[in-house]
Amino acid sequence: MTHAIVARQPGGPEVLELAEVERPLPGPGQVLVKVAAAGVNFIETYQRSGAYNVAFPFTPGGEFSGTVDAVGDGVTDVAVGDRVATAEGSRGYSEYALAAADRILPVPEGVDLLTAAALPLQGMTAHYLMNSTFNVQPGQTVLTHAGAGGVGLLLLQLLKARGARVITTVSTDEKEALAREAGADVVLRYDGFADKVREITNGDGVDVVFDGVGKDTFEGSLSSLRVRGMLVLFGAASGKVPPFDLQRLNSAGSLFVTRPTIGHHLQNPQERRWRSGEIFAAAANGSLNVRIGAQYPLAKAAQAHTDLEARRTTGKVLLVP
Ligand code: NDP
Repeated sequence: MTHAIVARQPGGPEVLELAEVERPLPGPGQVLVKVAAAGVNFIETYQRSGAYNVAFPFTPGGEFSGTVDAVGDGVTDVAVGDRVATAEGSRGYSEYALAAADRILPVPEGVDLLTAAALPLQGMTAHYLMNSTFNVQPGQTVLTHAGAGGVGLLLLQLLKARGARVITTVSTDEKEALAREAGADVVLRYDGFADKVREITNGDGVDVVFDGVGKDTFEGSLSSLRVRGMLVLFGAASGKVPPFDLQRLNSAGSLFVTRPTIGHHLQNPQERRWRSGEIFAAAANGSLNVRIGAQYPLAKAAQAHTDLEARRTTGKVLLVP
């Protein structure tokens, strides 16, 4: 037997309970990982609450790092004892978790297993947003919300390394300091941010907005764009954006709006290697600073969700079994 977090029904953070479960066995093409740390991501709060459809009883956790404990039939590129991570596993809030061998990322020298759990989902998200959803060019001006968050701190640093001018929003002084340290050129509070963005850009607006906050920022994000700019809505930390009349994009400046998700940006092994390779290399050579803002024991998963949803966290949140 082993331990895992199990939610028996959808609900608040309190449905996340530590339980004794059977130790999983890897099926054909699967790898069993002894979990070193599991990433806590906003998507798991949507799954836990019932906002996203999942089957209950449910053990969250697509993202984790650890050491390979066993491999299933047909697995040749991963061996017992390898240090690995994934953004696409299942039941990561556990002592032992499974992933398909072709979704496993090798952890390079120079990256410890906590950092390896902090990077895959938010790092590859930052990577696809600025390379594939909108290919940010040096000199362009970008607005990215929640700059001290998990995706936020990584995206800020990568955008600055690209040579973009970066404006971000945060809710507190502590978060402002972190966003500045990560290289943000301008750090705003949410209140009235669209007017300030116009002012800062001499009335032009920004080339692209990366918006993972959703309901509370969507209107302001639209108003912050230059003519033919793009609003990339990639999350809903504050709630879902209500239905939207497409005709508004016309009068607001022939704008683009898109709603991407990571799964469509890890379509094949080459794409996965490209994104994870660049992100892990940047962490290994020190050009990307990965902030682990909080670590909780596995049994405290409910507290981790409470803190994430209450905007009390910065950078990455990890569960450590
Ligand atoms: P964060 O660490 O960024 O946490 C969310 C942050 O959003 C908070 O810290 C807070 O920062 C800000 N926020 C603003 N309003 C609210 C609110 N009402 N309630 C809670 N938080 C709020 O989380 P992640 O980095 O894990 O995820 C960021 C977003 O990216 C999420 O929406 C997530 O779903 C999305 N995402 C999307 C992916 C995709 O492929 N589409 C993949 C990965 C993540 P502050 O206090 O500064 O406002």
